[in-house]
Amino acid sequence: MSLTEITARIETAAQAHGRDPADITLIAVSKVQPPERVQAVLEEGHRIYGENRVQEAQGRWPAFQDQFDGIDLHLIGPLQTNKARQAVEMFSTIHTLDRPKLAQTLARLAQERGKSPDLFIQVNTGEESQKAGCLPSDADAFIADARALDLPIKGLMCIPPVEEEPSLHFALLAKIAARNGLTGLSMGMSSDFESAIAQGATHIRVGSAIFGERDYV
Ligand SMILES: *Cc1c(COP(=O)(O)O)cnc(C)c1O
Repeated sequence: MSLTEITARIETAAQAHGRDPADITLIAVSKVQPPERVQAVLEEGHRIYGENRVQEAQGRWPAFQDQFDGIDLHLIGPLQTNKARQAVEMFSTIHTLDRPKLAQTLARLAQERGKSPDLFIQVNTGEESQKAGCLPSDADAFIADARALDLPIKGLMCIPPVEEEPSLHFALLAKIAARNGLTGLSMGMSSDFESAIAQGATHIRVGSAIFGERDYV
């Protein structure tokens, strides 16, 4: 599917729910994709990309940044504290803040650098043991703690369990965000971004629908 088609589908979904498409940021998830596919989407004019590994992003993006202006990179995968410094230097936005130790490290870096990437707190809405994110029952306290560290918390992020109806998870995330006065909602991927838009997504993370299937090795 092309970028143009995805953009059209975002507009249709937004309008169907009385939303302004301009309030929805499309993050093109380029992880694992061959560089020629990423290059093609850059040439179409798209500038907002998501990567899930700091190292992979460091390997591929500097060359593109020499070639194209205004590239905006978002980290959407788990972040180890020992990679936090590299991450804050490279990404405008980190979607995966999920534990106190990482919050403390990001706060220390923010103080040192005088700036911080925008942050989303990842919530493990499905309470899956293998998945990152704070538990829904811990979210209010963790959001408060992160704010007390002066971190720029813009919203919440979730990855619904594959075998469950995603809209229930999107609704739960929206509810936790609303009661904490957060407006950002990073939710929705290739298979469910329209349903995420219906539930208020402000940032959708779409990979394979734009670039094609990923070849994991
Ligand atoms: C890979 C990934 C995506 C994109 O998934 P697609 O199904 O290819 O759209 C979105 N969010 C996260 C956190 C991912 O790791």
